[in-house]
Amino acid sequence: TAKRSRSGTAIYDAETDSHRSEQLGVIGELNRAIAEDELVLHYQPKVATGTGELVGVEALVRWQHPDRGLLPPSEFIPQAEDDEIIVALTDAVLEMALVQHRSWREAGAELPVAVNIAAGGLYDNAFPDRVAAALARHAVPGAMLTLEITETSIISDPAEVQAILDRLRDLGVKLSIDDFGTGYSSMAYLQTMPLTELKIDRRFIRSVHESASDEAIVRAILQLAAALNLKVVAEGVESAAALAVLETMGCSYAQGYHMSRPMPADEVLPWAAGRIRV
Ligand code: C2E
Ligand code: CA
Ligand code: CA
Ligand code: CA
Repeated sequence: TAKRSRSGTAIYDAETDSHRSEQLGVIGELNRAIAEDELVLHYQPKVATGTGELVGVEALVRWQHPDRGLLPPSEFIPQAEDDEIIVALTDAVLEMALVQHRSWREAGAELPVAVNIAAGGLYDNAFPDRVAAALARHAVPGAMLTLEITETSIISDPAEVQAILDRLRDLGVKLSIDDFGTGYSSMAYLQTMPLTELKIDRRFIRSVHESASDEAIVRAILQLAAALNLKVVAEGVESAAALAVLETMGCSYAQGYHMSRPMPADEVLPWAAGRIRV
């Protein structure tokens, strides 16, 4: 017998069945969502801590579901990551982000965009070729695209990932480690992978202005990044106090609700008026 969960998903009394059928349901529906253009991207500004100017945006996917409304990624990305559909989803997101980049460029703003790549999207030998084709299709220079990947996706097969990341770097694409500090304990990959950026996970950032231990971790990451010539972005900056401390500590870039929540594409340029770097 089906009943409704708080989020409105159909769930079933038999617990083992429920996971499986919900999973199949989401994947089947995601196929339709991609075909019918139900996925939309919101964009969150990445700013320079000192001046507040906009230096880029991160694309964050949402699902405009016909019955359930606008769904956050937590409602479907984890399921998609366990399925080959993550490949089609990643391609769709990349395509939308590049189309949007071109449209901003036509409006006079050369705005670098970052796209999140799940582990399953990375372990795919054809991925760099599809990225190259997408960049060419939209005449976007590789340097305008950052791919955000997690430590855990690098660690599961470093040799294979290295080859794929090297090919992406050859396109000029920038590579960023997302949620830095929460993944694997070995940092050997930092020396070998062709990375450009670390994003410090928001758990260390939210209270950085009032927690000595958070501050110590952030300082250590900043030092490490400087020595390795990596840019650092602090994620999850929720207050002016946190932003001020980060600037004082020498963290150059920040993202978070204090500056802006992720927003629909058409709100980005109005938000950015006066902040765009020229
Ligand atoms: P993420 O890549 O770490 O993205 C940052 C998440 O933190 C976003 O949630 C963003 O809205 C939220 N956030 C930003 N600033 C703040 C803040 O100041 N405080 C707090 N508490 N949260 C903040 P969102 O959009 O719900 O995305 C969640 C996760 O879903 C992302 O985490 C990413 O792992 C995944 N995701 C989103 N879009 C995609 C996509 O296109 N492809 C893949 N594979 N994963 C995606
Ligand atoms: Ca991210
Ligand atoms: Ca993150
Ligand atoms: Ca994440």
